[in-house]
Amino acid sequence: MTERIPVAVLGATGMVGQRFLQFLDGHPWFEVVALTASEGRVGRRYREVVDWRLPQPMPVWAEDMVLGPTSPAGVGEARLVFSALPSGVAREAEPQFAARGIWVCSNASAYRREPDVPLLVPEVNPDHIVLIERQRRERGWPAAIITNPNCTTTGLVIALAPLHRSFGLKWVFVASLQALSGAGYPGVPSLAILDNVIPHIPGEEDKVEWEPRKILGALEGEEVRLADVTLSAHTHRVPVWDGHTLAVSVALARPASLDEVVAVLEGYEAPASTRDLPSAPRPVIAVRTEPDRPQPRLDRDTGRGMTTVVGRVRPDPLGHVKFTVLSHNTIRGAVGGAVYNGEWLARYLGWR
Ligand code: NAP
Repeated sequence: MTERIPVAVLGATGMVGQRFLQFLDGHPWFEVVALTASEGRVGRRYREVVDWRLPQPMPVWAEDMVLGPTSPAGVGEARLVFSALPSGVAREAEPQFAARGIWVCSNASAYRREPDVPLLVPEVNPDHIVLIERQRRERGWPAAIITNPNCTTTGLVIALAPLHRSFGLKWVFVASLQALSGAGYPGVPSLAILDNVIPHIPGEEDKVEWEPRKILGALEGEEVRLADVTLSAHTHRVPVWDGHTLAVSVALARPASLDEVVAVLEGYEAPASTRDLPSAPRPVIAVRTEPDRPQPRLDRDTGRGMTTVVGRVRPDPLGHVKFTVLSHNTIRGAVGGAVYNGEWLARYLGWR
């Protein structure tokens, strides 16, 4: 077997960082050779400092890894880093890696809106990866930063992509019920969220209203023309551990029957370039027909947490169609998305 590609996880002690370790455990292409955290933990063993919060045990290989600084010097031979850093930290740190020839797959929002940075969902817009050519040329970096979207955007845009392709989208209304794990750990205090719903997640609505327009946008040379669709988002934090639920109403550019809508959702496949990558969801979208599905506790692990689950497809009196979307926020919406992006990057660069 060919040697695996050495990678590192930046911000390995956080909620998303822990999920990265779990998701990369036994990965066929990537081998984790370095972990980083904030300055106070540098030099300590991972198991001594991490507050491990996942039900699955910590991977054995990670236990005694010594945390490095979040800089190129801290990641050894890694050719690619997966970033689970807070956005402000990512803004400073990530360019240092790209400038030293180390590729960055980032979960953070810091660079998502830059016109030369791909905002990638491999099932939807893998062609946008060509923006890295512009990024490297214009910034003078030997490597580049690629990003995955906000965890709420991810499930939404995967459900919208087949409708956008087949019928066009005029407007989209979405109300989210977002899991607590999306706020990191310890996140929202228990006394604030138990028996409660919080109708405000700072910065979230703006991301959900903008990011799908870039992802669904058309690539023109080395530029993305934002998709001409209006989105209105209402975001809420709810007492669910993992799995974001979205109530979505859509007005199509070309009206379609419910049967046609269900058929394009069920039949949706990733483009040929990304369809067979190790983390590709199978299926991309699962359509449930029961009247009370999807539910986060029952359905979030569909397709190892990588499948987007859609249910309750029905007519919408304001637009054309409405439905419920469920997406695993820390898997498909965070680490699974970043690792899938990393696989696509590795293929694009000819490493695999
Ligand atoms: P978190 O639990 O707060 O973890 C943050 C990580 O970054 C920790 O490992 C922390 O290390 C490290 N860190 C903090 N300040 C640092 C600094 N100055 N220098 C170096 N490392 C530093 O956050 P999270 O929920 O895992 O989220 C991480 C990122 O992913 C955020 O940008 C978030 O918006 C994004 N994201 C999260 C989700 C989700 O569902 N949670 C989904 C999509 C995207 P220490 O332990 O040493 O402090």
